[in-house]
Amino acid sequence: MMSLCDMPPSNPHPLALVVDDDARLRLLARTFLEQAGLVVEEAASGEAALAAFEQRHPDIVLLDVTMPGMDGFEACAALRRLPGGDRTPIVMLTGPDDGESITRAYEADATDFAQKPLNGAILAHRVRYLLRVNSTVEALRKSEACLANAQRIAHMGNWEWNLTTQAFHLSEEGRRILGRPEPDACITHAAYLQCVHPDDQRLVKDAFDATVTQQTRLSVDHRMCGPDGAIRIVHQEGEVACDAAGRPAALVGTIQDITERKRAQEHLDFLAYYDSLTGLPNRLLYRDRLAQAVADAQRHGHLAATLLLDLDRFKLINDTLGHQQGDRLLQEVSDRLKTCVRNSDSVGRPHDNRPSPAGVRDRSASLARLGGDEFTILLNRIAGAPDAAKVARRILASLAKPFHLDGQDVFVTVSIGIAIFPLDGESADQLLKNADTAMYHAKQSGRNTYQFYSQSMNASAGERLAIENRLHKALDREEFLLHYQPLVALETGRIIGVEALVRWQHPELGLVPPMQFISIAEETGLIIPLGEWVLQQACAQARAWHEVGLAGLRVAVNLSARQFQRQNLLHVITRILLATDLNPRCLDLELTESMMMQDGESTSATLRELQALGVRLSMDDFGTGYSSLSYLRRLPLDTLKIDRSFVKDCTVNQEDATIIKAIVAMSHSLKLKVLAEGIETEDQLAFLRAAGCDEAQGYYFSKPMAAEPLTSLLKTTMLERRSSITTAV
Ligand code: C2E
Ligand code: MG
Ligand code: MG
Repeated sequence: MMSLCDMPPSNPHPLALVVDDDARLRLLARTFLEQAGLVVEEAASGEAALAAFEQRHPDIVLLDVTMPGMDGFEACAALRRLPGGDRTPIVMLTGPDDGESITRAYEADATDFAQKPLNGAILAHRVRYLLRVNSTVEALRKSEACLANAQRIAHMGNWEWNLTTQAFHLSEEGRRILGRPEPDACITHAAYLQCVHPDDQRLVKDAFDATVTQQTRLSVDHRMCGPDGAIRIVHQEGEVACDAAGRPAALVGTIQDITERKRAQEHLDFLAYYDSLTGLPNRLLYRDRLAQAVADAQRHGHLAATLLLDLDRFKLINDTLGHQQGDRLLQEVSDRLKTCVRNSDSVGRPHDNRPSPAGVRDRSASLARLGGDEFTILLNRIAGAPDAAKVARRILASLAKPFHLDGQDVFVTVSIGIAIFPLDGESADQLLKNADTAMYHAKQSGRNTYQFYSQSMNASAGERLAIENRLHKALDREEFLLHYQPLVALETGRIIGVEALVRWQHPELGLVPPMQFISIAEETGLIIPLGEWVLQQACAQARAWHEVGLAGLRVAVNLSARQFQRQNLLHVITRILLATDLNPRCLDLELTESMMMQDGESTSATLRELQALGVRLSMDDFGTGYSSLSYLRRLPLDTLKIDRSFVKDCTVNQEDATIIKAIVAMSHSLKLKVLAEGIETEDQLAFLRAAGCDEAQGYYFSKPMAAEPLTSLLKTTMLERRSSITTAV
């Protein structure tokens, strides 16, 4: 089929239809026209003219005015209504000086007239002229149709913005893209801008203005809003058209609907960057985001953390329940992780809530699936390691609830490794690698737990041995010492006890905090003799304080999981209490939630034996949420120590404040005392007192310090009840 655009602009031998009831006149006209190169067809009446027109599609019609039956005016009007009739020139043949006929001829929509008697030369000129004009118009019409067709196929419209009148002409396809097909839609530039999506209007207006003022090329992608609210994405290109004097007169351009292309692109991106099972970002996208976070953190001096999660024994579930259920489990795990991440906006320092400068990502978290049963979480702009720990604990708690699969309850735990930028790596790859190492250690230390990366994890066998040797020697060389931090009763403001915190006085490194060596001591088993030394030392110190008049002062000692699991724990404690002659009520053993959750039966049995001995028992770092109320009820505890991470934000974070109040209420109903750790400010203190906390500990009262300098402080507060602490509380 011949397309519109391929048609020749004009016919080399145009066909003329001559209509007259007078055969002589027809012959005369035929002679003139054939001389002028036309082919002639004749008709003797109006009716015959209509039939011939429909059959032969002449290029021009010569039509006598007066004919029997249908006259020329009627025939002209009827021809105009036939297909193609509106585009064919019709010349009316009138009598000489017949003014009325000429007027009527134009009224009947004739193109021109010729007077009888016919003048051959004039007629030939006139007919050729009309044919030429008509073929130009026809060609224009065809190219317009071609353009419209091309625009429709390319979803592209064109527009012209007259800078003087502000008139805006938009082509048919352009209006269709906007969902406003009516011809008078968007007749001004302002009206056109109104069709732009509200969020993009500034962008588009600026782009148009810049094109005019700087005479640059317009090229902008943005959204358009149809009257029905439908959103299309368009690409606009344009440039300035200048007048004869070289001044910008108009902006001309194109608008193309790229919605489908964008969607296809998005779909491709989705396939490339997302995991199809869970819809989460995949490893590729995660690496990208992590690298971006690292760059931002570097530029603005923030901390960022990456948490690497690996489900414990997932393979077993997959093998037992089948891959389909395994997939479902992964989907449900991903749903739970999403909620943990969504809540993670409670991490970070209060002042980090300020709006971030342009180009800087907000403090945010993102979750990804790296493949298999491995997930990862990125935390941007955290205040410190406790923020990451908080999210890790939230995850452990959230996964602790059973999953319902195939009619049965399935329990899933996860091991989490955490690496923090810039402490644990300066690049995305380094962080992921170190988080992986930490995750491996979390698996090693019994699963269902989280572990921060530490350099010792990467230490070669030789280096590790050196650390271990040094640790061993440290005990022999008496390089360990204890610092004590006061515990304050909020009601009276008095110091009622101290927590013993071990330090390593390293000959080269100085005072090493426990976070840096306790885990190695645990892994190597050194924690057993070290723990015993701490107990011995702390009990002896407490007894010494009692001797100098500080009767009843309690000492809290942290127990490690390894110590707690030892069969002879009860024996060791009894021996030490006897040797130091300390009242068991003055020894407080601090245990952590994860220790107590390990083996339900033997744990509560051990605790009961300790209770029978008379020592106090505290649950340290509480607030992680994975100790259930019913479980706590079965444990013979005296005190719950609310973890420092909750106290830190309690005055600014509603969620933390609510958790603290709930812990206090719950503890009191179980007849437990509540101690808040890590109080640093007066506001935190005020909040915790109002919340009903019984005891507190933190830098606000005193940092941990050696026994000797602490003795005088204890004496002033306990004996004279007059001190900075008393007045502060
Ligand atoms: P923990 O039992 O939760 O001890 C409290 C920690 O919080 C101490 O850190 C203390 O210095 C710190 N702290 C107290 N008040 C504040 C405060 O207001 N702000 C801040 N930012 N921190 C505060 P430390 O001494 O570094 O001990 C860290 C952890 O090491 C302890 O946490 C405990 O789990 C462990 N640890 C310490 N000594 C021993 C020990 O003898 N045996 C065992 N097994 N673990 C120990
Ligand atoms: Mg403690
Ligand atoms: Mg603690």
